[in-house]
Amino acid sequence: MLDRLQRPLRDLRISVTDRCNLRCPYCMPREVFGEGFRFLAREELLSFEEITRVVTVMAASGVTKIRLTGGEPLLRRDLERLVEMLARVDGVSDLALTTNGLLLARNAARLRDAGLDRVTVSLDALDPAALRSMSDSPVSPERILEGIEAAGDAGLAPVKVNMVVRRGRNDHSVLDMAARFRHRPEIIRFIEFMDVGSTNGWHAAEVVPAGEILSTIEARWPLQPLAPAREGEVATRYRYRDGGGEIGLIHSVSAPFCGSCTRARLSADGQLFTCLFAHGGHDLRGVLRGGGGDLELERRLSEIWEARSDRYSAERSGESDPQPAPKVEMSYIGG
Ligand code: SAM
Ligand code: SF4
Ligand code: SF4
Repeated sequence: MLDRLQRPLRDLRISVTDRCNLRCPYCMPREVFGEGFRFLAREELLSFEEITRVVTVMAASGVTKIRLTGGEPLLRRDLERLVEMLARVDGVSDLALTTNGLLLARNAARLRDAGLDRVTVSLDALDPAALRSMSDSPVSPERILEGIEAAGDAGLAPVKVNMVVRRGRNDHSVLDMAARFRHRPEIIRFIEFMDVGSTNGWHAAEVVPAGEILSTIEARWPLQPLAPAREGEVATRYRYRDGGGEIGLIHSVSAPFCGSCTRARLSADGQLFTCLFAHGGHDLRGVLRGGGGDLELERRLSEIWEARSDRYSAERSGESDPQPAPKVEMSYIGG
């Protein structure tokens, strides 16, 4: 199954909840996602059985990688039951989770036992004040570090650590973060602040380009480029020349990778999105709940994918501050 730009569908990111226990302003600003915000109701969420059906059909069409995300996926009750169900689907060879790490220490072993392969933990700073500013919440970096440690101990390795870099907020923490994960089994990845959604007040001036992050690190510890670990990998990889390990840079803004984007996203209420920056999704829950069989699901899926021509980041590169448009929020479709 190929889209209009000849890209196959290989990866699916599944948002299992639109709720979160943090309010990172670049993702879920408190002014928007506050008390009056209407999150999805229980019955609107896809059940684990429904998610597993979608994944089974997609795996038969070529999807091999699944990532559970959100919102904060560890807020979804009994998540390990979903992991167990997805780990058994034929064709799924890589089952991963992205989390803010707050609830990871107590869940890591259970998730591993259920069949989870890998975990990515978001941690934007080690300095408590910068972390508070990035998450708009009184979180302690130690608690997230404990989660990272527990995930490694449970064998969810190598743990990847995501740091979104925002100029003026946490860019002073880049070297500290790099130092913390040198000579460690974890792999840190520095992410450019992206203009996802319509509510995070994105400005080009707050993006620290990956090239600048790289120069900052390279000036301290010389680096050497590494080949991509696999086709379509989003991070550009480097290794420290002194043997300190590996880092990644995700340059979605400064050097978009739409040409090799093989990813779709499923929202917690069963809408399928073919691009992180899409204005709308395709309703799969209606097919699931309308009594449609797997054949109908499969037909719908190939219709959607074969019509896909998204390359938002590539198209917008060059513009600085794009016109505000009602793009869908990342916490809803899954980062
Ligand atoms: N709550 C989980 C977490 O924070 O890891 C999973 C969902 S979160 C939406 C997934 C990833 O998206 C996180 O690593 C987060 O830092 C990243 N993210 C969210 N908004 C972003 C933005 N505007 N630019 C770049 N990355 C962003
Ligand atoms: Fe929550 Fe993750 Fe978004 Fe932060 S980035 S608000 S932790 S969903
Ligand atoms: Fe894929 Fe859309 Fe991101 Fe381009 S902008 S890499 S098509 S999700």
